[in-house]
Amino acid sequence: VGGDASVDLVNTVDWTEAGPRRERLSDYKRLTRWAEGAGVMEEAVGRRLRRMAKSDPEAAESALRRARRVRVVLRDLFTGLARGDADGPGGDAFAELLKRALDRLRLQRRGGSARHEWVVPPATSTLDGFLDVVVWSAARLLASDEAASIRVCAGPDCGWVFVDRSRNGLRRWCEMETCGTQAKTRRRRKSARRTPGSG
Ligand SMILES: [Zn+2]
Repeated sequence: VGGDASVDLVNTVDWTEAGPRRERLSDYKRLTRWAEGAGVMEEAVGRRLRRMAKSDPEAAESALRRARRVRVVLRDLFTGLARGDADGPGGDAFAELLKRALDRLRLQRRGGSARHEWVVPPATSTLDGFLDVVVWSAARLLASDEAASIRVCAGPDCGWVFVDRSRNGLRRWCEMETCGTQAKTRRRRKSARRTPGSG
């Protein structure tokens, strides 16, 4: 939905006015499954981490807490950017996260070509190392042309973030089937209620 792993992490919960709702990262297992689905790490790595988590539930719990912290920082950063604050809230916090990710930055040859690219490989020895991959993904997104296309869903009590890759750049909702449809239904109800001449 979001268009980048870092954006997708923000969308693992609904950001309502009453606070976060519908938590998808309810335990460590689901966190690693999410990371696999978002292309952050391969399934084999996820399986290995889940085995490690079983023998160290405390570390798994702290990795989960860290994931949620990273999520808040990214959310502040992206919504700030979408609103147009040059260094929105979360800028310093993000820099702190990035420092850690940069420790593991490697120059890697791109498959088959002579070109190289900077990558942060997912750490397989720590339970939360793969979060650095997400942070690095955010860093690249922020420095790309697509940073100008980061939007916050216009749906109420959603708060999901996405990269608007629509041709006209006018995408307003995370998903047309959910928030887009809700908004349309509400608009229809509103106009049906409206009495002639009132507005
Ligand atoms: Zn939405």
